[in-house]
Amino acid sequence: MTDTLTPVRAGKLILNGEAVDALSGRTFTTVNPATEEPICAVAEAGPEDVDRAVKAARAAFEGGPWPKMRPAERQRVLWKLGDLILEHADELARLETLDNGKPIFESRQIDVPMVANCFHYFSGWVTKLAGETLPVSPAFFTYTLREPLGVVGAIIPWNFPMIMVGWKAAPALAMGNCVVLKPAELTPLTAIRIGELALEAGVPPGVFNILPGKGSIAGEAIVKHPGVDKITFTGSTEVGRHIMKLCADGMKKVTLELGGKSPNIVFADADLDAAVRGATTGIFYGKGEVCAAGSRLLVESGIHDEFVGRLAERAGKLQPADPLDPKTRLGALVSEKQMNTVLGYVDTGVGEGAKLVAGGKRVPVNGKGYFVQATVLDQVENHMRVAQEEIFGPVLSVIRFDDADDAVKKGNDIVYGLAAGLWTRDVKKAHAVARRLQAGTVWINAYNFYDAGMPFGGYKSSGFGRDLGPDCLREYTQTKSIWLSTE
Ligand code: NDP
Repeated sequence: MTDTLTPVRAGKLILNGEAVDALSGRTFTTVNPATEEPICAVAEAGPEDVDRAVKAARAAFEGGPWPKMRPAERQRVLWKLGDLILEHADELARLETLDNGKPIFESRQIDVPMVANCFHYFSGWVTKLAGETLPVSPAFFTYTLREPLGVVGAIIPWNFPMIMVGWKAAPALAMGNCVVLKPAELTPLTAIRIGELALEAGVPPGVFNILPGKGSIAGEAIVKHPGVDKITFTGSTEVGRHIMKLCADGMKKVTLELGGKSPNIVFADADLDAAVRGATTGIFYGKGEVCAAGSRLLVESGIHDEFVGRLAERAGKLQPADPLDPKTRLGALVSEKQMNTVLGYVDTGVGEGAKLVAGGKRVPVNGKGYFVQATVLDQVENHMRVAQEEIFGPVLSVIRFDDADDAVKKGNDIVYGLAAGLWTRDVKKAHAVARRLQAGTVWINAYNFYDAGMPFGGYKSSGFGRDLGPDCLREYTQTKSIWLSTE
């Protein structure tokens, strides 16, 4: 049973091992998007708090115990943090659902295990990532070291507030870096709580700092701070581009995981029952506020009418409901602004000539909340705005295609390249099409699967660098080559 009664504590900054107020004393209120009611006050970090957090992180990096800790001990601390996250699963899931509006089913069954999985997985790498001895010349003993970068600034979005802490902080910390993380202003609560749990797990003061605050103030101050060596960012392409320019000035390394408008391609020879389920979860999981959402559904002409009919029926049954109810599968959008953006796109699509075959409306639950129905727009052409722009809500655009070449052409005809799905019983076609799609992840007869062990990131305007998997360890380390003369 989800705890619906206990009040949520005011949120603080986690800075140099302590939960503290902002130096300015400023706070902001975080709001439950399902009820439109305040949840609690949260300390609002300003540039002066960023400065003290970065200084604490630098001190912890240069003189403190974290990079000097025996790898096996650092591994143990991060593993313990994974365990503590699981021990506090109900509490974290509730906070996430209150703050973000996502169904408690997702917070509890998907998000919490994923964050714990990140800390467990990357703790394993602490003792495994090694340099190499390289055979260059008998006159030298030559080897490489994989060293941490220093202080990593992590700026994360509101759609997966807790999971993003795991994706960014777990590998950065595992590789011996110190972290200053800013959660989105709309959803700061779970990051703060994980920051507290990190201290309980034995992460030393200054190593992992959490600074809730505004992107344009605290976020920008982190990016510009000369004491930060690298920025890892997930969010909109527009802000990502801005951050990249700022990083150029400071010659900072940067990883960007940005928007998407991913094609989910259904061939006529697919298992249609599975494909209808996959098309539905591909867009409506996470309320469609998912960077990799399968928001462009490409359907082969021969099955188009039947498929869209089944899809519309399934979408019609998926009604928004109280996110704290374990049976709910479609929650509230994160904010009134996001809801209005999404509803605006539905109007735009209809105005462009698309046909609304399911949903399309706001439906308050118990008279409140930013809930939008599961929406399907049919007869979309790939040049329309609803086919090209990231809507970031429960709105699916259905586009027809004629054959595999046409599917690949339409699938790739977009600035983004984050993910793609395809559904077919033909194994050769599956692999051939997967290779031709310009996307960082391709799911075959599946959609929306993630694991700490599988790299994730974009092609084209969806960004560069990788979160997760062995690939992401390079994002948080640098290689030092050592030449020892033996003569
Ligand atoms: P943003 O890109 O603005 O926010 C992402 C993070 O960046 C937040 O922590 C934000 O802080 C921070 N930020 C904002 N401006 C700056 C800045 N100048 N310097 C440093 N950090 C900054 O996304 P939005 O919340 O505005 O969402 C807008 C759209 O972006 C969505 O509709 C969606 O299309 C897309 N989006 C994509 C995501 C993805 O996973 N690819 C995730 C979220 C959004 P704060 O929130 O406190 O302002």
